[in-house]
Amino acid sequence: MTMRIGHGYDVHATTQGDHVMLGGERIDAPFGLRAHSDGDVALHALCDALLGAAGLGDIGRHFPDTEPAWANAPGQKLLRRTVALVRDRGWAAVNADLTIIAERPRIGPHIDAMREGIAAELDVDRRAVNVKATTHEGIGALGRGEGIAAHAVVLLEAR
Ligand code: MG
Repeated sequence: MTMRIGHGYDVHATTQGDHVMLGGERIDAPFGLRAHSDGDVALHALCDALLGAAGLGDIGRHFPDTEPAWANAPGQKLLRRTVALVRDRGWAAVNADLTIIAERPRIGPHIDAMREGIAAELDVDRRAVNVKATTHEGIGALGRGEGIAAHAVVLLEAR
């Protein structure tokens, strides 16, 4: 069975606002995330991991922020499109593991909903999707809450 692994990383700066989108979930926060899209770093990192595993480049190549179609695009729309691209090349997701790095807001209460939503898009069991959250321990820009970042690793198998 041929398998491929991919990694993705994304970060967006915080800005004025009252919520953030993370892993497809709307979470109240005393700030927002600056982005051409909805700034969902978790789903963007996951898209890059999927594209990376399939050898299809990166999210910027497929969804240029200069294109109106992707302006303010929800992360779920990008993820759905990315999964379709990867599937067209003959790949199916096996599992995904995400790490969100944020001083605020609290992510924990939203993790189960994120897993469920991501599993549905990837067409895998929810137990095959893991979402972790950590702070940056007050260190550097992320530690000062100037942004939120996410890493994602995904495994694909040939269908
Ligand atoms: Mg992004």
